[in-house]
Amino acid sequence: MQIIPFIPENAPFNSEQRLWLNGYMAGLFAGKGYVHVSEAGALGNNSATASVPLLILFGSQTGTAEKLAKQIAKESKSRGCVPRVTDAAEHSKIDWSKEINLLVVTSTYGDGDMPDNAQGFWDWLQTDAANSLTHLNFSVLALGDTNYEQFCAAGKKIDARLEQIGAKRIHPLADCDLDYEAKTKSWQDGALAAIIPVENSAAGHVAIEEKSSATSAAESYSKTNPFPARLLTNRKLNADGSEKETRHFEISLADSGLNYDAGDALGIFPTNCSALVEDLLAALGCNGDEIVAAPGGELSFRKALANTFDITKPSPELLQRIAEKNSAVRELLASEHKDDLRKWLWGREMIDLLLATPDAKFSAAEFLPLLKKLAPRLYSISSSPKAHAGEVHLTINVVRHQSHGRTRKGVASTFLADRVNDETRVPIFVQTSHGFRLPANGDTPVIMVGPGTGVAPFRAFLHERRAVAATGKNWLFFGEQRAANDFYYREELEKMFTDGHLTKLSTAFSRNQAEKIYVQNRMLENAAELWSWLEAGAHFYVCGDASRMAKDVDAALHKIIETAGGKSADDVKNYLAKMKTDKRYQRDVY
Ligand code: NDP
Repeated sequence: MQIIPFIPENAPFNSEQRLWLNGYMAGLFAGKGYVHVSEAGALGNNSATASVPLLILFGSQTGTAEKLAKQIAKESKSRGCVPRVTDAAEHSKIDWSKEINLLVVTSTYGDGDMPDNAQGFWDWLQTDAANSLTHLNFSVLALGDTNYEQFCAAGKKIDARLEQIGAKRIHPLADCDLDYEAKTKSWQDGALAAIIPVENSAAGHVAIEEKSSATSAAESYSKTNPFPARLLTNRKLNADGSEKETRHFEISLADSGLNYDAGDALGIFPTNCSALVEDLLAALGCNGDEIVAAPGGELSFRKALANTFDITKPSPELLQRIAEKNSAVRELLASEHKDDLRKWLWGREMIDLLLATPDAKFSAAEFLPLLKKLAPRLYSISSSPKAHAGEVHLTINVVRHQSHGRTRKGVASTFLADRVNDETRVPIFVQTSHGFRLPANGDTPVIMVGPGTGVAPFRAFLHERRAVAATGKNWLFFGEQRAANDFYYREELEKMFTDGHLTKLSTAFSRNQAEKIYVQNRMLENAAELWSWLEAGAHFYVCGDASRMAKDVDAALHKIIETAGGKSADDVKNYLAKMKTDKRYQRDVY
């Protein structure tokens, strides 16, 4: 090992320059057996301090990537880095010529798209300006969900692009599924070790690790330690005759110490439907009392299936094992039959697969490793803590439908609707939102587009603004199938409109008439007024369906700025890009 020359205190540099130079040299020699030590320090001496600058850029839609970026920063600090956590939307404020080490933590949103806050960074990476990143060491942590075909696509695209423009990948990308914790930890260890080799990292590291495990028992409620909450209210919001079942839930936060803000989401760990568990046990030929090893320790196979694992969607591993035992499935798994496999799996669940392949037998111990962990579901909170202290409200569409002769049930939505009673508790945690927030200044007008369950965070916003006596104007666009059956929170919204708190209420009931009318039609009808609100500094929010609605609303917004604002296509693009950078265009879409 060699020692990188130290930049002495009396060298003609200010502290910022010295830090940068020290970091530059440490970065230059990262992973090559060199370490930078302070003048007072010596190798093997606890006073040795590496000071390696590290930029951690996050692209986050729901807040998970941001939270992880902050955790990684904390860990990197304990190893001797000087980390900065930066929102990818702020990329243009970064002096890239001074950056040495970059860790990107990003989720993927929609159909393999960048999260909203990382889109500008991604666009910039395509420009010539990004060719100046050749000096950069980087690694990418990609968050995703294997249920989507474009798994972790945003992170993979950034990783490939950084390499393409000549930056140096110092640690391979990690693509994480919903249970990202273990993979994130291992990526973090690898990436940080590539920046500062473990043997050179700051002495405080071990102490901090010990401290954090010692304090974890007293840790407050979180995703890893969810609070067992009482369900107070479970009320259907649709009138009889509706084609939908959307419910309003109220959950007690009493004695939890949990806090949230309007715009946050609530995570729920559901329990599977017991009838489905019994059907699976019968299909496997198990009695459910078999003792199995699960992440939390040993328990019965029945309990593991009920509480710990996803028993609806067949995992690729299960498909593979069934294919080994069943020639028809084996044929479907061949790469040339990818489309046939997709069609066959459409509307089918694990139980269908097992019933269709009775020759593929599994013991409990063989079966469990083929399952994925049951992931928590996130729901946008529909209350404000300032209006409903000690409670959190949710507005959830309960998923029930028929396919291939069986009734299918959404795991978490039917858990809340059907399976929670006075004796059971709902394991919850608060997922702090990344950037879905009311404007700091209460005078600022807000435009909220929330069809269906998308109304949830806007109910929270309206309650919050009333509670803090914010004087800014409020405009809500709400849409559902029929006014008579599906006008959620009608009474309270109309009351807010009558008393002036809700300045404008624009509704679009798609099935009240022969032709469909959607929220974006109402926006276009009100183009001039909507434009004048934008020009007065209004923040524009969208919540609800990502696949079609959010795209159509975005197109309508483009059109309004173009026509009512009299702007060229390029100017519209710039106008919206600026709104996003200024956090005036925010989306919570799923
Ligand atoms: P939906 O978004 O399904 O429906 C609300 C209203 O939006 C209806 O009037 C519907 O009209 C209308 N609509 C349909 N297409 C468009 C479009 N392109 N632009 C604008 N409006 C449109 O409401 P939900 O709250 O039930 O579901 C929200 C979305 O989120 C759905 O895609 C759902 O699959 C998804 N989702 C919901 C979850 C939940 O818990 N709510 C969980 C996971 C996903 P019409 O139907 O008459 O065409």
